[in-house]
Amino acid sequence: MSGRIAAFLDRDGVINLDHGYVHRWADFSFVPGAVQALRQLQAAGHALVIVTNQSGVARGRYAEAEVLALGEQLRAHLLGEGIRLAAIEYCPHLPGGTVPAYAVPCDCRKPAPGMILRAAQALDIDLARSMMVGDKPSDIEAAHRAGVGQAFLVATDGVGEPAPLPATLSHTPRYRCLLEAVQAWLGPSAGPHSTLRP
Ligand SMILES: [Zn+2]
Repeated sequence: MSGRIAAFLDRDGVINLDHGYVHRWADFSFVPGAVQALRQLQAAGHALVIVTNQSGVARGRYAEAEVLALGEQLRAHLLGEGIRLAAIEYCPHLPGGTVPAYAVPCDCRKPAPGMILRAAQALDIDLARSMMVGDKPSDIEAAHRAGVGQAFLVATDGVGEPAPLPATLSHTPRYRCLLEAVQAWLGPSAGPHSTLRP
């Protein structure tokens, strides 16, 4: 199989601190080490793809336009750091949400693999050689369903222990934060790393 290697990355709790329904750039703060992790992935040739559930849209907490606007500010900020995002995929849906247009079943809300598959097709990604980092079981399940070769679970906001995983996903490597997971994925040359559960 041909194609580029990608790093599929959850956003809230992995790239930025998860204050709950973050939707304004003013409320966006990076998890320590996240920008460095993105830089290392890019240097190693990975397409950087954010895959984020944004059910706040279906819940009426913020508009889809605000998701897009925040994404553009994140893109611009990272470009200023020399880092280019290949894609930002988001799911605004939630069955049972309060905004009818978005309160629908979909194939993109993680753990469904739709966002990953969509980006992989658009960017010619070799999923089997790619990786995913998330802080929730649904991130890991989405990666598996899409055929992503390796998934990593990290602690939300890089603090404490990663979430418990169901037995079927319990072989997933667990790290404290994105940077530690990326350094484990890229190998010792990317810098020192440690694991919570060797
Ligand atoms: Zn969706």
